[in-house]
Amino acid sequence: MKDCLFCRIAAGEIPSYTIFEDDEFRAILDIEPAGPGHTLILPKAHAANIFELPEETAGRAMKLAKRIAGAMKETLPLDGLNIVQNNGEEAGQTVMHYHLHVIPRYKGVGGFPLWEKVPVSQEEMQKKAEQLKERLKQDI
Ligand code: 5GP
Ligand code: ZN
Repeated sequence: MKDCLFCRIAAGEIPSYTIFEDDEFRAILDIEPAGPGHTLILPKAHAANIFELPEETAGRAMKLAKRIAGAMKETLPLDGLNIVQNNGEEAGQTVMHYHLHVIPRYKGVGGFPLWEKVPVSQEEMQKKAEQLKERLKQDI
């Protein structure tokens, strides 16, 4: 997509600190990181979010995240690591091109948690569990 920032970065039209590239993905350092090494995995083909992303690409993106996490564990003095992926403004997505955050965490650096805890009744838990369980059976 012509006007999409991450399409342009993924295509190499806008410079980035690229740590990995193949035919399908470019992995870059986040410009406003949660800490040193914070990486974004961008598929080169545009998909706005997880709902638009082909299932196979989602699988390969997570495989690449595992590979990058392993490289981080070996090369950075990290104390923890988050893999985060936001979909929609309400979920904190600011760039509407799917990306996976791979975030090394260091004691005393940056903030957590990612979400506030919200009370949910047992009835609501039961209802949500049933709705999702029933829907997921249809995909088998
Ligand atoms: P989101 O909130 O959509 O999940 O994450 C978007 C991320 O992209 C943010 O962490 C932000 O710092 C990063 N970002 C935004 N613009 C640029 C850019 O031009 N270059 C790089 N490398 N990262 C960017
Ligand atoms: Zn795009």
